Amino acid sequence: MTYPANSPAPVDPERLEKLAEVAVKIGLRLQKGQDLVMTAPVNALPLARLITKHAYLAGAGLVTTFYSDEDATLSRYRYGPDESFDRATDWLYEGMAKAYANNAARLAIAGDNPMLLSGEDPAKVARANKANSMAYKPALEKISNFDINWNIVSYPNPSWARQVFPDDPAEIAVGKLADAIFAASRVDQDDPISAWEAHNANLRKRSSWLNEERFAALHFKGPGTDLTLGLADGHEWHGGASTAKNGITCNPNIPTEEVFTTPHALRAEGFVSSTKPLSHQGTLIDDIQVRFEGGRIVEAKASKGEAVLQKVLDTDEGARRLGEVALVPHSSPISASGILFYNTLFDENASCHIALGQCYSKCFLDGAKLTEEQIKSQGGNSSLIHIDWMIGSDKVDIDGIKPDGTRVRVMRGGEWV
Ligand code: ZN
Ligand code: ZN
Repeated sequence: MTYPANSPAPVDPERLEKLAEVAVKIGLRLQKGQDLVMTAPVNALPLARLITKHAYLAGAGLVTTFYSDEDATLSRYRYGPDESFDRATDWLYEGMAKAYANNAARLAIAGDNPMLLSGEDPAKVARANKANSMAYKPALEKISNFDINWNIVSYPNPSWARQVFPDDPAEIAVGKLADAIFAASRVDQDDPISAWEAHNANLRKRSSWLNEERFAALHFKGPGTDLTLGLADGHEWHGGASTAKNGITCNPNIPTEEVFTTPHALRAEGFVSSTKPLSHQGTLIDDIQVRFEGGRIVEAKASKGEAVLQKVLDTDEGARRLGEVALVPHSSPISASGILFYNTLFDENASCHIALGQCYSKCFLDGAKLTEEQIKSQGGNSSLIHIDWMIGSDKVDIDGIKPDGTRVRVMRGGEWV
């Protein structure tokens, strides 16, 4: 299919500029003089440039961007020596960790083809992921411990758009994905900054209620799901904007619809089924069913991608336990769009979810002051991975269980009670 050379650009430049502004002013709340480390797919160059512009307008110190390229990634899998799959760019991550230790902010533009590695050897993918996770750890810890303000936004890469809208010609698919990203990121509105402030206030109301209730556990019940999930001792619910240890209040995820906290790593009992496919680093894992005993996954299957799921669970001991539980109403705008984005940043905001692996220390009362040992003793999980997958739908009910066993209705049919 061809297009006239003068056909309008599929990505609305005005909204793209608003997205860049929201990323800098709401997502990062970048401070005068603060450095910024950005990563972006090469296709997202137009957005990376606009973010760089708005970062400097906000008074950024130095903005440094690292670009990735899908073709280059595939070349590694096709032509790279076998031993390279146990290696990662540790020198780069060490440099990033150093930048964050010096209070640089972090921004990632997401938008890679979710199926990029689906045709590659799963063993190589797993080795490369493990080596990357280990090398990334010093830098990732600064982000998962929320030492600094950080943010992820998305750009409609053509390869991603083709996955989401396979029946449309390439340019139409990109335009549709762009519109979906803009709507979910609230930049289709006249005043996106005010819209985000109102949205943050609403999420804060939900998380404050959950923090007052102080549930000991949540009970999820629905088709293929009967799960009692203990919450960590001294857990704290968060949602929307929150304050990093460097004192800056930012919105790490754009979009975001979730309120979330830390489950107890030793207190999950029962079984749970996924309600949407999980796109994990190039592989689609569908119809996940797992059973928990004492917080540990003791049985796991999937109709698609089961081999990858098993490898993920074998990453380390913490990979079989939970590090996050999040509540999202079924009527959230992303769920209402009916689009499966094959991207956790969007799909996790369509549905209640749990995450395998690493917990967030900020999801504890006084989390910033707790040592790793204290977090562990309160039930916080640790792992090289953090993988969200969706367990909510309009058929799932959730009760909160108080320490004395009293039940409070939290969600019915996927909606807040
Ligand atoms: Zn989440
Ligand atoms: Zn998560």
